Amino acid sequence: MKQGLTVEEAQRRVLALTPVLDSETLTVAQALGRVLVEPVVSSRRIPPADCSAMDGYAVRVADLLGAVPARPVDLAVKYEVAAGGQAVRTLEAGEAARIFTGAPVPPGADAVVRQEDVAVEGDRVRIGLAPPLRDNIRQAGEDLEVGDRVLEAGAVVRPSEIGLLASLGRSVVAVHRRPRVAILSGGDELVEPDRDVAGGRIVSSNSYTLAAQCHQVGADPLYLGIARDRRESVEAHFRAGLAADCIVSSAGVSVGDHDHVRPVLEKLGCQLDFWGVLMKPGFPIAFGRFGSALGATGMPGPLVFGLPGNPVSASVTFDQFVRPALLKMMGHTACFRPTVRARLGEKLTKKPGRLHFVRVTLERIGDEFVAASTGSQSSGVMRSMSLAHGLLIFPLEASELSEGDEAVVQVLDDGFFAGTTPGF
Ligand code: AMP
Ligand code: MG
Repeated sequence: MKQGLTVEEAQRRVLALTPVLDSETLTVAQALGRVLVEPVVSSRRIPPADCSAMDGYAVRVADLLGAVPARPVDLAVKYEVAAGGQAVRTLEAGEAARIFTGAPVPPGADAVVRQEDVAVEGDRVRIGLAPPLRDNIRQAGEDLEVGDRVLEAGAVVRPSEIGLLASLGRSVVAVHRRPRVAILSGGDELVEPDRDVAGGRIVSSNSYTLAAQCHQVGADPLYLGIARDRRESVEAHFRAGLAADCIVSSAGVSVGDHDHVRPVLEKLGCQLDFWGVLMKPGFPIAFGRFGSALGATGMPGPLVFGLPGNPVSASVTFDQFVRPALLKMMGHTACFRPTVRARLGEKLTKKPGRLHFVRVTLERIGDEFVAASTGSQSSGVMRSMSLAHGLLIFPLEASELSEGDEAVVQVLDDGFFAGTTPGF
């Protein structure tokens, strides 16, 4: 087991041990946010035929050569084609067909003139312009041809992909499964939120924060409750999570007398990969993996993250290590938060030796982002997280960042980019 890794090294090790989960088949409508297991190849031509992009008249360009407002050409309107309809016959010289948006262009026609550009006189139309060839015609196969590779394996399904799949006539699609994440808390002081907190009891808020962080990436949390500060209780709770894809515990992972997480994991046969990451908040974090907890199935057992107990530490370590792992499990390749470069609105100092994730607000001033600390950076102050738009990276060996310096900020709250005005 490695100890005292840098954040980058720990993240690398986590992702190296994280499997991509197998697939499940969902209806296309259910697949929003999932990742495709296989490429999608078009079995259809879309649009299936040349069709009109406008309400107007299908014409033969040759009939209108030289037409101008002063010398218009009259055409006989012979029939009508509605969307979903068919031309009754080929359009002959000197003829036009009434046509509507989305309707197939009749054989013989090679342009559509918008209805705004014609004068209707009984069963004739007078046209004072010479349209270019194929004007206002959507070409058959303009969107998709049979055999086109429409989506790659690994593509994230967004609303437009759902629309594409539907237009190809797909009713179901294979996507990576969502990880089941067993969540447990540990500590004799902890109670559920509806219980009495007299006598120094503390609400086990971490299980709520962590479950919400699971939901936010599309994973499926399963709450296993509060383990007491006894080895048997901690062991029983971990055992209950062995059928999950990932177990996330908080607290009890440090070096105190009541910190049973590491010895219990070792006893249960978990291969601990590392303990302790050079970061603040959240130094004491354990990571490992059960080899084959499900016996002879050959399936790997769950990943295990023993996160620290302090609420900010638990949330930040989840974000740095568990979140990328869950995203990888679901087939994502872009597993890390987006970052921006921001200018510091104030001076920051620290001791070298750990990377600090500083909770900051972001403000856009002109073309720049300006970052300011959300106040007390104590790992127990959850309000500092609640106020934060992002986590500013105060590098491991640095001891001072001056006002006006540039730093990288991981964006936690993409609502920060959302506008109260249209913005254009
Ligand atoms: P520990 O790792 O057990 O030493 O816990 C560190 C700190 O985190 C203590 O102050 C605990 O009370 C607090 N803590 C532990 N678990 C939770 C939890 N589930 N929710 C909120 N605070 C917690
Ligand atoms: Mg404790």
